[in-house]
Amino acid sequence: MFVTRFAPSPTGFLHLGGLRTALFSYVLARSRRGKFILRIEDTDSKRTVPGAAENLASILNIFGLTYDEGPFIQSQRASIYRQHAEKLLDNDAAYRCFCSANTSADTAVKKSGGYDRRCRHISVTTITENLQKNLPYSIRLKIPEGRTSFVDLIHAKLEFANRALDDSILLKSDGLPTYHLANVVDDKLMGVTHILRGEEWIPSTPKHVLLYRAFGWEDSMPKFAHVPLLINKNGQKLSKRHSDVNEKGYLPEALLNFVGMLGFTPPISKEIWLLDDFIEHFNVCHLSKSAAIVSYDQLDRLNRLHIAHRLKSDSPLRENLVDSIRRDFLSQYNSRIQESIREIIFQNSHFIAVLLSVLPRITFIHQFPSLIASVYCLPDFSTQESSILKQTVMSAISPATSFTEISESNNSVVSCLEAVPETQWTEENLKTKLKEFAKTITERRIKYGGLMKFLRFAVTGDKTGDDLTHLMVLLGKNAVIERINICNR
Ligand code: GLU
Repeated sequence: MFVTRFAPSPTGFLHLGGLRTALFSYVLARSRRGKFILRIEDTDSKRTVPGAAENLASILNIFGLTYDEGPFIQSQRASIYRQHAEKLLDNDAAYRCFCSANTSADTAVKKSGGYDRRCRHISVTTITENLQKNLPYSIRLKIPEGRTSFVDLIHAKLEFANRALDDSILLKSDGLPTYHLANVVDDKLMGVTHILRGEEWIPSTPKHVLLYRAFGWEDSMPKFAHVPLLINKNGQKLSKRHSDVNEKGYLPEALLNFVGMLGFTPPISKEIWLLDDFIEHFNVCHLSKSAAIVSYDQLDRLNRLHIAHRLKSDSPLRENLVDSIRRDFLSQYNSRIQESIREIIFQNSHFIAVLLSVLPRITFIHQFPSLIASVYCLPDFSTQESSILKQTVMSAISPATSFTEISESNNSVVSCLEAVPETQWTEENLKTKLKEFAKTITERRIKYGGLMKFLRFAVTGDKTGDDLTHLMVLLGKNAVIERINICNR
């Protein structure tokens, strides 16, 4: 059975690289009907951020990456690691190191670029004496001579000279394990068969291979796949701080789709990748060796695609999204809503059509309320800004024309629109009618473009925006005429 795990250290919020590792590990397990485990690697208490573990677990759920076992919390498993470290002492694969972190070893470590192994060679008598004196000690791995290699599923065979490896601490003097020991012991005890993790862990892997050997577990060594680094457009490593995946207003499925394409060359061409698509088509052989460039423009584009996909889908997720945007909108703009169209806000089909109409201008979901306000709310013509804008619009149309001329004469745009029956209130028909109307007023030196500028101002209070006739159809005849009349007052 395939068993994979996601083993984050709770040192902050989940970042893009972490989410990608979680996704790939999850889909690898699911695609083979295997098991996916969540393990919190919190052995470095100094770096542990309170609440981060809970946050990681709940984030996985938000993204639909449900784990079958866990979360296992390493800080609660200290005795297991201690027993295993002691086994290594018995096997002569590890040794006690009495150099305390603050004294001689520190200098020794710095000088040689690694621990100088002075305790590796102390006599049994000295060890016994030190133990009798209750001197604190850590346990270090005895790196053997020679070379260590392993076959990585992405990078093929990787080989390391053991002399470049440090006799790393496995168990600290406070009895708690380091990453290497806890990670290997847990992978073994949890039956992990495939380890997917970032490339930055490649230098640790030969130590892990040696640990498997030292424990006599070589036969059950998991397969390793180290996924490529994430870099920004300038080729620099992505800083964790700039890649938090929290609360930015992206849909979870957009983020998943985005990270899933980082270093993964899809076997089929398909724009929208949902979790099920990854499960169906994911294979480690489609992962690339070269660094993946993170483009936030691409993420924004995917977010829009996924918002549209969700809005057009028929799922409870759509209802959640629509309800939450509507709630936000009402709480911010309630008092400015055009009363005559208030009830259409509650018609899902209408509300969704309005959301889709502003989608090209969206990057984050929280931007929806202010954009749809231009649809559902009456423009505020009373401000100074608005009257300046009105003058600008009018002088751009024709310096010789006044606002009332287009809107209040017998042959006004209002009467033109009033003559359009509700049943023919379509984009196409409105364009035709307004073009015809523009012809009748050319003697007033207004062209169709100018007329539309005027109308846009009257309907939205603005001089730019989305397709105007589309908006007029969304608003309906009465609401449009009401706005023009208000603007004329
Ligand atoms: N705790 C390590 C991390 O934070 C896990 C590395 C691994 O997957 O082995 O990324």
